[in-house]
Amino acid sequence: MRIVHISAEFAPIAKAGGLGEVVLGLSRVLQRKGNDVEVILPYYDFIPPLSLANTKRKVTDFECLGEKNTAWEARVEDCRLILLEEKHPKAYFRRGKIYSCADDPERFLYFTRVALEYLRGLKQPIDVLHLHDWHVSAAAALVKEVLKELCVQTIFLTIHNVEYQGKCEKEVFASIGLDPQYYATAERFLDPLCDQINLLKGGIVYADRVIAVSPTYAKEILTEEYGFHLEKTLQKHKGKLLGVLNGIDTKIWNPMSDVHLGVQYDFGSLQKTKKVLKTRFSSLDQTRTPWIGTVSRLVPQKGIELLEEAIETTLKLGGNFLLLGSSPIEEIQRQFDQLKEKYRDNPAVYLNYTYDEKIAHQIYGALDFLLVPSRFEPCGLTQMIAMRYGAVPVVRATGGLSDTVFDAEDYRIPSSKRNGFSFQKYSKEAMNDCLQRAFSLYRKEAASFRNLIRRGMASDFSWKESAQKYLKLYCSAIEKKSSLEEKRFFLRDESAIS
Ligand code: ADP
Repeated sequence: MRIVHISAEFAPIAKAGGLGEVVLGLSRVLQRKGNDVEVILPYYDFIPPLSLANTKRKVTDFECLGEKNTAWEARVEDCRLILLEEKHPKAYFRRGKIYSCADDPERFLYFTRVALEYLRGLKQPIDVLHLHDWHVSAAAALVKEVLKELCVQTIFLTIHNVEYQGKCEKEVFASIGLDPQYYATAERFLDPLCDQINLLKGGIVYADRVIAVSPTYAKEILTEEYGFHLEKTLQKHKGKLLGVLNGIDTKIWNPMSDVHLGVQYDFGSLQKTKKVLKTRFSSLDQTRTPWIGTVSRLVPQKGIELLEEAIETTLKLGGNFLLLGSSPIEEIQRQFDQLKEKYRDNPAVYLNYTYDEKIAHQIYGALDFLLVPSRFEPCGLTQMIAMRYGAVPVVRATGGLSDTVFDAEDYRIPSSKRNGFSFQKYSKEAMNDCLQRAFSLYRKEAASFRNLIRRGMASDFSWKESAQKYLKLYCSAIEKKSSLEEKRFFLRDESAIS
């Protein structure tokens, strides 16, 4: 199959969170299975030239909406990337960052159109056009309504987080060739709450299949509590909505070969190696145990109030707390800066507000527990990464966390599946109770704790199974389309005969 992903992120060269890792992991496995896969990405100015060295070559210059662009091809992490360099006067992708510009919808709408113009120029049929999140979801309508000469069998839209929908004024939307008079309607792109365009909504309406990144999240987003006002649209298109659990890239996340750790380990050498990895955080009191921490964007979704509370609880219970995370929201960042002041000389608290890949790997390696107290979590990668690194997850049971973490003391679940701790209610009490249970098992039942680690490390969180599911869905969508076309053809034929 010829599979084309269009995405705003691709790890490690352009990653802000889980999306970039998912696009890398999925496309790599699809390619290994013998498909012809390419990923189309903006050529951001911050992509290090060295990361493309030796593989980068110019494909073509082309125009889009009167502006010049260049397509470059490169291989990164064994994947074929098409990097689209814009020369737009607004320097859309020369801002030193992926997101958080005031004109994000305008930037990504332009990229969407450029990506499709590039594909149109190639004149090659595409089996699957796979779109990720709101940034590129207008492509579904563009292909079906405007650029009809693009030969695309099926269009998939994966929703990585329904909270982010991409809202903009109608004029911005019109600039890429979608007439608001026709498209800004309640059935298509009109936001359910205001008189703006909602790009994710239009993607849901126009895509052939909509995939949520975990089975539980696929159900949750149909409800008012988790749907962020798109629940009605999703209910209407429920027939094409499915949940497929994300995997993690097991080449990047492998304690047996992790270049960032400086040491390698497996279950057998875990205890000894974790001690060494803990010494990397030399400001922390090495005698206190256990070590618990979080690696996360600091946004309301991730349970900000609970994180603050967890630091206090950990201190009371005698452990160490590590946090690696930064916030795109100034107010939240200020709040965490105050926390840093509060715990400045406390040898039981490590707070780091940078985005640092290497430190992330070292934290996963050093931790005994990883805490993910999210309000909602579409899939979540950190709990899977933690388990692979021998850290036991403590999570709020929501979305993908419910699908991957099974409480050690939930006797309704077969013991062979239990791999962590979870709490249902989003409250400080529920979390504190869960933390107490976790610390108690760690201290009093060493053998049971090691069993949890063993199960986590032995679990298969790779993309193998999920990529296979995606492939099956691609095939069935294409078959469905072919049989519909066949039916239409025969109907036409019959009416011609009669
Ligand atoms: P989301 O996509 O909502 O941010 P996920 O759990 O799906 O959350 O993915 C988060 C990814 O980003 C993980 O790979 C995690 O290690 C990484 N990450 C988050 N914050 C940081 C940070 N400050 N530094 C390095 N990596 C981070």
